[in-house]
Amino acid sequence: MPLLVMKFGGTSVATLDRIRRAAKRVGREVANGNDVIVIVSAMSGKTNELVGWVEETSRFFDAREYDAVVSSGEQVTAGLMALTLQEMDVPARSWQGWQVPLKTNSSHAAARIEDIGTEAIKAKFAEGMKVAVVAGFQGISPEGRVTTLGRGGSDTTAVAFAAAFGAERCDIYTDVDGVYTTDPRITAKARKLDRIAFEEMLELASLGAKVLQTRSVELAMRYKVKLRVLSSFEDNDESAGTLVCDEEDIMESNVVAGVAFSRDEAKMTLLSVADRPGIAAAIFGPLAEAGVNVDMIVQNISEDGRTDMTWSLPVDQIAHAEKAMAEAKSGGEINYAELVTDNDVAKVSVVGIGMRSHAGVASQMFQALRDEGINIKVISTSEIKISVLIDRKYMELAVQALHDSFGLETAA
Ligand code: ADP
Ligand code: ASP
Ligand code: MG
Repeated sequence: MPLLVMKFGGTSVATLDRIRRAAKRVGREVANGNDVIVIVSAMSGKTNELVGWVEETSRFFDAREYDAVVSSGEQVTAGLMALTLQEMDVPARSWQGWQVPLKTNSSHAAARIEDIGTEAIKAKFAEGMKVAVVAGFQGISPEGRVTTLGRGGSDTTAVAFAAAFGAERCDIYTDVDGVYTTDPRITAKARKLDRIAFEEMLELASLGAKVLQTRSVELAMRYKVKLRVLSSFEDNDESAGTLVCDEEDIMESNVVAGVAFSRDEAKMTLLSVADRPGIAAAIFGPLAEAGVNVDMIVQNISEDGRTDMTWSLPVDQIAHAEKAMAEAKSGGEINYAELVTDNDVAKVSVVGIGMRSHAGVASQMFQALRDEGINIKVISTSEIKISVLIDRKYMELAVQALHDSFGLETAA
């Protein structure tokens, strides 16, 4: 039997009615002769609510208990989806992560998948079950505790299942009809892409385009999973949505493929630290140990043997970073005058494999921002992307200006 993986995101299972609609889609694929593994997210808003409860209960929470709480949303939708399918006479049952088992490492709240046991589900398919409904986002650690894969992790569950079971395709059903040149909620000029290269999707995702979790794109690239993003609200044919594929499978593309942004950024600066060998290690070591994901880094020119060090980080990690720096200071590992936190910044990035062979993308980006009077606070570049940190209040404006400047509204 050909096997498909179909993943339904939060808005696609937000109500019983929507679960019914999603189940009908699954039923159609079964009627077409496929076995299906359905991966479900929690109902939209549910995970945010659960995270909020954890944070309200405990500021520096035990991540194992965080996972115990936030994994529960997917348990509910998996059961409801299986029941809905059964009501439609489609043989289905639900599986939680630990039942599969989907084994992960012990990095709670950001666990990585290590192995997916396929035997139990395969045995059920052999007995005539048509649909395995699996709770996305969750797994089990070597210690036997429930883990979660980081926000948006159901995408990664879906791709990992597609790889483990050798599925024909992994379809990610969501609330937009594909991957756009930028988030269509920011500008109506955003254009849907029929295809996007793995590497570009990887950058866009890691720079904030939450339509796919970064890890899911990594896995799809590594295991050559045919990955498609499409709408659960529209009727789709074979060519609907966006196919994430190899660079070679795309005929023409713009130099810049898309603009990504991340609203929830913060900037921290240590004022007046000693400029000596090992200072970066003394600062970023404790931050890494505290689980802080430092992104951009700038070190100022030093004066009288002292310098300022600036870095960006996700806004929800400020408390952890401040604690780590205060401890490093009181422990004598670093000495600084002041730690200044700016939590009103956003990161905007342009991404495109065309940048490898085209000069001038950076200067065009800086000019477009200058023309809008937007000040750049930090810049970082890699082979196929340029990112800037700016005041958050200008984020939408910056995205629109860059989208216009690089002509993304029209295809190459
Ligand atoms: P789901 O709950 O289905 O996983 P998400 O909210 O995680 O859905 O991801 C879909 C959302 O991603 C869209 O509603 C859209 O606002 C956002 N998004 C951000 N960047 C892009 C992009 N480049 N193309 C499409 N959607 C994007
Ligand atoms: N429900 C989880 C989240 O909101 C996982 C997911 O939807 O992919 O992050
Ligand atoms: Mg998502």
